[in-house]
Amino acid sequence: MKPLSSFPKVSLGIFPTPIQKLENISKILHTNVYIKRDDLTGLGLGGNKVRKLEYLLADARLQGAQVVFTTGGAQSNHAMLTAAAAGRLGMKPILVLKKRGVTERRGNQLLEFLMGTEVIFVDTDDYNDIYEEMDRIGKGLGVPYYRIPCGGSNALGSLGYVDCAREISEQGFHADHLVCAEGSGGTMAGLVLGAKLFLPGTRVHGMMVDSDPFDIITPALMWETAALLEINPEITENDFHLMDLCGPGYAVPSGEGNEAISLMAREEGIFLDPVYTGKAFAGLIRMAEEGRFRETDRVLFLHSGGTGGLFAVL
Ligand SMILES: *Cc1c(COP(=O)(O)O)cnc(C)c1O
Repeated sequence: MKPLSSFPKVSLGIFPTPIQKLENISKILHTNVYIKRDDLTGLGLGGNKVRKLEYLLADARLQGAQVVFTTGGAQSNHAMLTAAAAGRLGMKPILVLKKRGVTERRGNQLLEFLMGTEVIFVDTDDYNDIYEEMDRIGKGLGVPYYRIPCGGSNALGSLGYVDCAREISEQGFHADHLVCAEGSGGTMAGLVLGAKLFLPGTRVHGMMVDSDPFDIITPALMWETAALLEINPEITENDFHLMDLCGPGYAVPSGEGNEAISLMAREEGIFLDPVYTGKAFAGLIRMAEEGRFRETDRVLFLHSGGTGGLFAVL
């Protein structure tokens, strides 16, 4: 295996992020629920994209990029964090976003306004149109540019969550179950691979908040990431599990997601978001109610951030 430390990385966040026990929710759900605070990664309003961007922007820098493009929906946490990170590293971010969702100056749009980020909306459902638009703009600028895919979910970005699994193991924490939201796949792919390498006995559950074919996307991304690490791990159906929590649609709040947000706020004073973590935690609650956790199990929930969404989407 090529060691993780051999991949260039820029420092953007504060790591390790804490792991805390959710005492009240553990009592309610009759199991041991812990939370990995990746909402406290220390850039912007925090969130999972910071770990991915440490690898992606190191690559951009090595390639001499002066402009960094990325994309997502109008309220993309990934796009907002890319703008924050690129700006800090002295590269100019340009966000080419799908004109989908809340485009007004609220939530992440407000934060991008405060950073003076250039935001371009394209009225399309197809990311290929977006990547074409990036190339058209990039070529016109006449400076080296770098394109980061939606969600930062390529093999290099997924390394961030292989590294997160290593971090959990270094914190001396054992989990029987690790639960995360799945939106573009990089977090889940990285965690499944990382658990295989660093967290023996941990099963990873991906709570799908979009309607893409994650049963195909997740393993494909995992194998790409494994190739980057020059490993060929044996991964079976037992190593991961996907559950559909999308509800009425991507970035449309769901009833059970909103109940999960309220429960976490009321019982633990921690705020989840309506697009990802609220729905993902609703999946954890559903699993507990279905009796899929034992009373002695340790269940670790990844809080992947998304706070901006509370002020735009909910
Ligand atoms: C992007 C995002 C996710 C999903 O991560 P992917 O790697 O895209 O699957 C989860 N939570 C939040 C808050 C996000 O912004």
